[in-house]
Amino acid sequence: MSVADGLTAVRSRMAAAAQAAGRSPKDVRLVAVSKTQPPEAVREALAAGQVVFGENYVQEAAAKIAGAGPGPEWHFIGHLQTNKARQAAELFSAVQSVHSLKLAQALDRRAGELDKRIMVLIQVSLAGEEQKSGCLPAEASGLAQAIAALPHLDLRGLMTMPPFFDEPEAARPYFAGLRELAAALAPDLPAGAMSELSMGMSGDFEAAIAEGATLVRVGTAIFGARSYPA
Ligand SMILES: *Cc1c(COP(=O)(O)O)cnc(C)c1O
Repeated sequence: MSVADGLTAVRSRMAAAAQAAGRSPKDVRLVAVSKTQPPEAVREALAAGQVVFGENYVQEAAAKIAGAGPGPEWHFIGHLQTNKARQAAELFSAVQSVHSLKLAQALDRRAGELDKRIMVLIQVSLAGEEQKSGCLPAEASGLAQAIAALPHLDLRGLMTMPPFFDEPEAARPYFAGLRELAAALAPDLPAGAMSELSMGMSGDFEAAIAEGATLVRVGTAIFGARSYPA
């Protein structure tokens, strides 16, 4: 299957899931996760009209972003170390995986130096796993308040990655949990700060759309299997 075919199939499944949930397909954006994929795969996706791409590794993304030229929107979705904040701020228009205030402050400082604003999402670990996969739900409110006050970051919502399940419906309580957490935080934040929910991947994006996802991050279902795990 070509990248263009993969995109067509994913887009039509997204539209069907949105319609089934009584939502407008326009309210759910597709982030094409191109990690480990070669620059040609990104070019094919661009040619097929894809606009938003997600990458997990700063180093790997740099060449692809430079090669793709202006136009696409690049979101960082992996685990970001504070010492990579400068490069991430240069390369990406959004960081979906902000998990600590220290990281947010580093991104804010670098964005300020570059005279740009970066869209950020707070990654939440709803299963309460290790720090790597996001902040704990109980920490999200304080973190959101602090990030909303940073001048060069544009807080837009939450992101989560549920534990892996074979059965997509098993992830659904986590998607519902993210939606409920965003709704609980929103009243104490500036308008729009909780308007995006990034949730759902190749195996479960339909369940995520049913629970309110506005961004789905899909790799394998577009590009095929990755040649090495990431
Ligand atoms: C790799 C990755 C995805 C995409 O996963 P697929 O199962 O290939 O769709 C989405 N989100 C994050 C954070 C990822 O690391």
